[in-house]
Amino acid sequence: MSTFLWQNIIFGPIHSRRLGSSLGINLLPVSGKVCNFDCIYCECGWNRDGRTTEALPTFEEISTEMKTKFDRLVSEGTRIDTITFSGNGEPTLHPDFPSIIDLTLELRDRFFPQALISVLSNATTAHKKEIRDALLKIDNPIMKLDGGSDRLVRLLNRPQVSYSKEKILSALKAFNGNFILQTMFLRGENDGSVIDSTEFGNVESWMECVRELHPRQVMIYTIDRDTPAKSLKKIPVIEMETIAGRLRNEGFSVQVCG
Ligand code: SF4
Repeated sequence: MSTFLWQNIIFGPIHSRRLGSSLGINLLPVSGKVCNFDCIYCECGWNRDGRTTEALPTFEEISTEMKTKFDRLVSEGTRIDTITFSGNGEPTLHPDFPSIIDLTLELRDRFFPQALISVLSNATTAHKKEIRDALLKIDNPIMKLDGGSDRLVRLLNRPQVSYSKEKILSALKAFNGNFILQTMFLRGENDGSVIDSTEFGNVESWMECVRELHPRQVMIYTIDRDTPAKSLKKIPVIEMETIAGRLRNEGFSVQVCG
C-alpha cells in the first residue's frame, strides 16, 4: 500500500487501533497535504508530493458536510466512538479551527452524545491561546511529541517552521496535564541518517519530557501503513511494552499500539 490522501472532508467511520470506530474530519484540502511538519513516516506522503493550490474547506462547507453525514449515519444506526480530527495534515492550521470545534461539540451532543471528540495535533500551535482553549474543550487533545531532543525531532518530524523542544514543552505545560501525549517509535534510515527512537539516550530524554508534562495518558505506537521514507521498521510490541512499563511503574497511564 502506498501513502494516500483522504478524499473527503468527512471520512469513515474507520476502525482505529487507538480510538475504536472513528469518524474522521479532514480540515485540509482533499487534493493535497498541508502541514508544518514533514514526518518521515507520514501516511499522507512527503509535503513536496502533496502541494496543492486548492483552498482549505470553508466553515460553511464543513458545517454542511457534518450535518449531512451525521444525519445519515444516525438514520443508518452506525455506531461512532470518536469524532477524530486528523486528515491530510495538521488540523489546527485551519484558520477557523476554534469555531469548528464549537460547531462539532454542538453537533456531537445532538447526533452522537456518547461519542468522544479527538484531535490529533503535532502541538506546534499549542502555544496559541485560542488553539489551546479549543483543544481544552474536547475530550481527547492528542498531542505529538516524538522525541525529547531537537535533533531527534528534526530527523523524525522535519519541522518546516522554527521548532524547539522548550517551546513545545512550555505550550503543553499550560494544559496542566489535561491531554494525551502521542509518540511514534520506529527505527530506520532517512537521508543518510540512522534513526532509532528506542535507543537508550532517546528514550531517556523523551521520558524526562513525559515526567515534566505529566499528561493524563501516553499513547505509544509504531508505523502501521506505508511511509514516505522506505526503510522504516516497526518496533515490536514487546519493546514498546518495556518502555511503557517503566512509565507505568511511575504511575503513568500508557497505551501501546503495535
Ligand atoms: S504531523 Fe502528522 S500530518 Fe504532519 S507530517 Fe507529521 S504525520 Fe503527517
